[in-house]
Amino acid sequence: MKKLIALILALMLAFAGVSAMAESLKMCTNAAFPPYEFYDENSEATGIDVEIAKAVCAKLGYDLEIVDIEFDQCIPGVQSGKYDFAAAGMTVTEERKQMVQFTDTYATAQQVVIVPADCEMTSLDDFVAANGTVKVGVQRATTGDLYMTWDYEDAGKGTVDRYPIGAGAVEALKAGKVDCVVIDNEPAKNFVAQNEGLKILESAYTTEEYAMAFSKESPIYADFNAALNELIEDGTVKGIIDSFIPAE
Ligand code: GLN
Repeated sequence: MKKLIALILALMLAFAGVSAMAESLKMCTNAAFPPYEFYDENSEATGIDVEIAKAVCAKLGYDLEIVDIEFDQCIPGVQSGKYDFAAAGMTVTEERKQMVQFTDTYATAQQVVIVPADCEMTSLDDFVAANGTVKVGVQRATTGDLYMTWDYEDAGKGTVDRYPIGAGAVEALKAGKVDCVVIDNEPAKNFVAQNEGLKILESAYTTEEYAMAFSKESPIYADFNAALNELIEDGTVKGIIDSFIPAE
């Protein structure tokens, strides 16, 4: 009898353990976009998006599972329901709003132009004026890619080389395969700090807003966005951003 009671108790504890294990939300990102998502020295994914997502999940009682994929797979992956949401330094655009729903925005960013440090051009149009064309490197399917495709490639003023990650575009710039790289300002600052002989042009190309993306049918979107809003209002989000972006 004692043994049976012990067994029943053990089983009950085991079940309690299982049910206490929180359900997890699957976030997709491209963890090559510092300081929004990258791997720390222990090979753990971290960054502004990762830490904000963790804080929202903690508030809602979910665990967070991070899946590192290419940026251009984030929206299709969210649309198909493969991932619960995307947090990837993703700019809100009208085109993307047709495909996904965005949370409130939590960061402002700019598309900037990286060039070799000794470059005398001050804008993309300077290249076009001097050479009749500009060769731009971008990360595939990003807003940098879209704007350069529309404004330079489609306009017959340049060519666009597309790389799976921003660092690939930066390598192409260092190798002289492209004239410049158009990418978000914070990753740009990181790339310039990590690679000698590069600089960022003073005038930014655009200003944009980041938000996390959910499928239009997402059952957790409303709760997630409400929790995110509370974390924006109580200063948690600002604290996270400031911890990754040193004041200038
Ligand atoms: N902000 C850019 C976009 O949304 C780039 C994002 C990224 O490369 N992770 O397209």
